[in-house]
Amino acid sequence: MRFDPKTEAVLDRASAACGARGAQLTPLRRTVLGLVQQSPTPIGAYALLDQLKGDRGAAAPPTVYRALDFLLAQRLVHRLEKLNAFVACHVHECGSDHDHAAQFLICDRCGAVTELEEPAITRAVEAAAGRAGFHATRATIEVEGTCARCAP
Ligand SMILES: [Zn+2]
Ligand SMILES: [Zn+2]
Repeated sequence: MRFDPKTEAVLDRASAACGARGAQLTPLRRTVLGLVQQSPTPIGAYALLDQLKGDRGAAAPPTVYRALDFLLAQRLVHRLEKLNAFVACHVHECGSDHDHAAQFLICDRCGAVTELEEPAITRAVEAAAGRAGFHATRATIEVEGTCARCAP
């Protein structure tokens, strides 16, 4: 599947970043990442399966789940628990060696999702976890409300 040039450029960087970590962005993983990247709102596994149907016949659900697990492990996408859907990471779009604590603003009305990277929140979460003797490896904060466009 071919995407627009901007998405292809992101996918090329993601592929290089995976390669540098000894992991391989296979054609299916690349296509799944491209679909997540292109989606204007968070996309669920079944919507991904639907979009893949046109491209490569019927992709089996476990194949898509494995591709998503890979992309999560490579820090290329985030999973939003509330929506049970995936978004591309826009902070480190080519992946980074450390997981950043991600914060998402989720609009209840239009479904728009904005990713924030607010270092003060990250530091506060890490410090609080540390005081509890807890070693945090991943922190996703989902904030629900109304976006600027939908605000009355
Ligand atoms: Zn991110
Ligand atoms: Zn909205």
